[in-house]
Amino acid sequence: MRLSNAAMGRGLMVLSIGTRFGVLVLVCLLALWTEYLNLKVGYGNARLVELSAGWGMRLFYEASDAFFSFFGDAVVVAQKNAGMTWSIRVGGVPFTDPVALLSVLLQGRVPELGFALGVLLPLLLAAFLGRVFCAYVCPASLLFFAIARVRRLLGSFFYFFDLKVGQSMAWGVLCGSLAVVLYWGHGVWTLILPYFAMGQTIFHSIALGALSVSVYSLVVFTILDLCLGLQFTCRYVCPTGRLLGWVGHRARVVVRREATRCVQQCTACADICPLAVSPTLDQTRDCSLCGECLVACPTQCLSIGRKSK
Ligand code: SF4
Ligand code: SF4
Ligand code: SF4
Repeated sequence: MRLSNAAMGRGLMVLSIGTRFGVLVLVCLLALWTEYLNLKVGYGNARLVELSAGWGMRLFYEASDAFFSFFGDAVVVAQKNAGMTWSIRVGGVPFTDPVALLSVLLQGRVPELGFALGVLLPLLLAAFLGRVFCAYVCPASLLFFAIARVRRLLGSFFYFFDLKVGQSMAWGVLCGSLAVVLYWGHGVWTLILPYFAMGQTIFHSIALGALSVSVYSLVVFTILDLCLGLQFTCRYVCPTGRLLGWVGHRARVVVRREATRCVQQCTACADICPLAVSPTLDQTRDCSLCGECLVACPTQCLSIGRKSK
């Protein structure tokens, strides 16, 4: 049985919410496993681990112990799952934000091999599938997705500003931040990169029991999205989104429009797109394959598939 385009869109939306939620859980687990490793490596004593925490944490340590031991030496396996949000290892496979590598190189430092190789997967993903990181991975994007829903829900009662400023703003943020890196160091990214701010906030809250300064950035991004425009942060501020959009401008899998079924003067797909893509004009650059336009299209003439040559 062949899925209708709208059903495919709904399926993709459910999948994207699920994977982003999963990534959020993973970020929380990475913070908890840092504590777990601290105790395991620092004390190597099960009794100390037990005494160091309440029943909830004890349960977590025991579950982690059992989980990691299943794959081999618990500490060695746990060390294969570590990192901060801009460069993490999952099952030993490294993932690094290309912005992070740029930042390290700009400071004249030689990156570790795993850190440098970690950019390959995100770049390959972007080259074939476009900005899918934004719709299926980014731990901050559920926040922006939720704000977009609030705007839509309250849109019939309140007027929401929708400023369109173009991609040059995000390029400016990226270049300006790289310039700041030269003087201030990497710390700037915890304030500028939305997903890093989210990861840092979660990490600090769990691992250190304190709020990170990054929480102020999240508040600013929320205000931008609410007051300036739909997903303003993702469209016009986030340097990682801009870079991945640029890498993915010739993506092989895209949103396709069946022109003969498209209704003149309809703008439903362009209006709903969180990343300001316009399938109406067969423009696919920056598409994250989130599926929202497939659901919104009244004639179901949008689908996702291989780009025609
Ligand atoms: S543009 Fe940036 S913050 Fe927005 S979803 Fe993409 S990576 Fe995350
Ligand atoms: S065009 Fe926009 S709404 Fe449609 S799948 Fe791409 S990002 Fe989502
Ligand atoms: S929503 Fe569908 S019918 Fe409307 S402009 Fe987009 S592709 Fe055409």
